[in-house]
Amino acid sequence: MDVLEKEKLKPGKLSDLKPGLKAIVYKIEGSPLFKKRISELGFIYGTEVKVIKKAPLQNPLEYEILGYRISLRKEDAAKIKIVSHKVANLLPKTNPGASITNASRTKASDISSKKINVALIGNPNTGKTTLFNHASGSREKVGNYAGVTIDVSNGKYKYKDFVFNIADLPGIYALTEYSPEELYVRQHLLQSDTDVIINIADASNLERNLYLTMQLADMNYKVVLALNMYDELELKNWTIDCKKLSALLGIPVIPTMADKGKGIEDLFKTVLEQHQGKSNQLQLKSVHYGDEIEKSIGTISQNIDQNPEFKQYHSSRFLSVRFLEGDEELLKQFIKEKTHHEISSILSQELGRLENILPDDPDTFMIQRRYAFIQDTISQCVNKNIHPVSKKWNWDRAFTHPIWGIPIFILFIWLSFEATFNLGAYPMDWIDSGISALSDGLKQILNDGPFKDLLIDGIIGGIGGVIIFLPNILILFCCLSIMEDTGYMARAAFIMDRLMSKIGLHGKAFIPLIMGFGCNVPAMMSTRTIENRRDRLKTLFMIPFMSCSARLPVYILFIGAFFSQHQSSILLAVYSIGILMALGVGIFFNKSTVVINRVPFIMELPPYRIPTLKNTAIHIWQKASQYLRKMGTTILYASIIIWALGYFPQDVNYSKDYTTLISNAENNTALSEQTKADLILELELSKAEEHLEKSYIGQLGHWMSPILYPLGFDWKMGVSIITGMAAKEIVVSSMGVLYHADLEADENSVSLIEKIKNRTYKDGPRAGEKIFSPLIVFSFMIFILIYFPCVAVIAALKKEAGWFRAISTAVFTTMAAWFVSLYIYHVGSFLMG
Ligand code: GDP
Ligand code: MG
Repeated sequence: MDVLEKEKLKPGKLSDLKPGLKAIVYKIEGSPLFKKRISELGFIYGTEVKVIKKAPLQNPLEYEILGYRISLRKEDAAKIKIVSHKVANLLPKTNPGASITNASRTKASDISSKKINVALIGNPNTGKTTLFNHASGSREKVGNYAGVTIDVSNGKYKYKDFVFNIADLPGIYALTEYSPEELYVRQHLLQSDTDVIINIADASNLERNLYLTMQLADMNYKVVLALNMYDELELKNWTIDCKKLSALLGIPVIPTMADKGKGIEDLFKTVLEQHQGKSNQLQLKSVHYGDEIEKSIGTISQNIDQNPEFKQYHSSRFLSVRFLEGDEELLKQFIKEKTHHEISSILSQELGRLENILPDDPDTFMIQRRYAFIQDTISQCVNKNIHPVSKKWNWDRAFTHPIWGIPIFILFIWLSFEATFNLGAYPMDWIDSGISALSDGLKQILNDGPFKDLLIDGIIGGIGGVIIFLPNILILFCCLSIMEDTGYMARAAFIMDRLMSKIGLHGKAFIPLIMGFGCNVPAMMSTRTIENRRDRLKTLFMIPFMSCSARLPVYILFIGAFFSQHQSSILLAVYSIGILMALGVGIFFNKSTVVINRVPFIMELPPYRIPTLKNTAIHIWQKASQYLRKMGTTILYASIIIWALGYFPQDVNYSKDYTTLISNAENNTALSEQTKADLILELELSKAEEHLEKSYIGQLGHWMSPILYPLGFDWKMGVSIITGMAAKEIVVSSMGVLYHADLEADENSVSLIEKIKNRTYKDGPRAGEKIFSPLIVFSFMIFILIYFPCVAVIAALKKEAGWFRAISTAVFTTMAAWFVSLYIYHVGSFLMG
């Protein structure tokens, strides 16, 4: 094989190739897993690769292969050996694997049924979810980067009197055992009752997309190929001969534009025909892997077919191919079965035989055959008219600029915060005055009594305090969503990879972390795109420190009241402390664990796309409805409970006889009207305050005060911290309830901000001092940032990482919050004298 050695030529490393240059892939070195993954993405013998650029921090690098962009680290690129075009011409060519037709393979399903189960399978970011949403009227999240969909979502599409049950699955590049998503999709295909697969491909990138199709062809499913994003193909002035492609692959091919809804009806009509076996007698074709491998496949398949235990799995050809490719996971599944060793022994016998005959490992060889077949097919039916690209401003140059890339990223985040505050201030005022008007109105109408108190102080005070932040949260979400939809987020991961690598993580892990700013729960679920378990766990532990939007109301409330000068900077500081904490956790885990089997950082860089209004609207709508639902459930219940705990017991032992004191004051003729009113107000306030202190919630707060005293927090802050464990917005609604009750007698209903600002300690060692100072407020915000994330996050963490890790996180974050707040409070007090 090694022609180069004969010619005394040495292949170079891809990592040494300068940006702008092209070369031909010669060989892949490194671990078997790396070899397999990188080959599946198209880095195989004979393919051209171009270096696009280096990231601002010199690493990773962006490459173009098979017409798409991918990011690789230098260390990984060094394992890819390349030769020049001139040398490549001396090398022997791989011959395209002729396709074989495998008759009578399609799985038997009830073709007369009116219910058809359809699975959407395709590479990441090809528009599967967009198509799913359009067809089923769902509103699942889409985004312009890999790994948005992490679970299966189900929806329905009706056509005539047929119902299609559609399953939207995570995007995958291949059906191997490389990432949790691949395992997930494969399991779905092996065990669900899918009737027809819709294989969605990016029409302008068939070279890579058809790889998965070739693997599907080894299974015995009926497949329809949707060429999505056909608009982008047309824009490039390329054409595809769909009829010919269909004939060559042996499956129907339908062009679609999922975001505009074009071609979808046609697609499902074809699915139906395919299901009923009417589709012009097309027969799915598999790649012919060469006589020797086909012989092995035959032997193993025969054995699998003879075993009734494996009936539950759909295709013996698929299993045989996977076994020959060394699929550990599938083998492990079979080890559990009784008859496994028969198959294992046949397998090792076949592998031994192939080793002697084949020039390469069987898996590398098979990957090459698939790509050879694809290239042959594409050369026959895709026409890429090279047309002069109109000179457009190259955004990417700025976004990934060596010097400006990172500052631009920070600027974007800062601008999002500015918008959150400044644009958000207007609707916030409107909602605020609306709530005040409502509560004043109700005060007039309703008779005094517990119901009135519950409604005004409990429900309106609690929910009203939180709901006014809805606009701010939506604005922040809108900004994040635009960054995702344009494809900028993937670039952010690209430019941050070098920094992330310092804590032993991928740039890819950066996306879940940024998503954590929206909500920690989906962020935790999106860590499933991280292949390596260790990296995944590390990212999971870091996410709670990324300040989610539920914590935003707390910051806005306090920053608005105490730091009106530098709002965005203070907010940036709070978020930065969270990020530093997360980095600390990352570094700690990096030091404490040995890095074994480092997984290569491979990430696709999708083309920039203009975000559609629909997607952005879907994101915002989802967030808004989620927030409102939370208002109507968790926050409503919590507000009522907090109110009740503060309202009862009604008959407390007051230290003074307020009733007599008040009536004395009323009857005191020596006082002027004004002084009398002031005195009565003062007495009523003290009474309310004392009642609250002696209520159940006050008792709880006082019980906690020894822990909180060193941090400078009063007992009401302590109560808010406890209640905020359910959801962090409740910190604000608790304060709404607790401080509202205080000033019940206050004539001018000032907002919560004003009330909080002017509170002083009535008695105790700090009597007369203001409860809130900028320093205490800052330390309180940091406490809220760091402590116990919230019940939903702990539940998500439990699901992803188990009970032990979830509980450890809950304990650790709370302790960390206490120490950091203590530090801020004491160092701050010291510095301020
Ligand atoms: P998935 O990862 O396969 O589920 O892909 P998504 O549905 O999340 O979509 C990825 C991106 O492609 C989104 O930004 C979509 O707006 C965009 N998109 C989807 N379908 C089309 C299409 O037909 N044409 C164009 N131009 N963009 C599309
Ligand atoms: Mg998706």
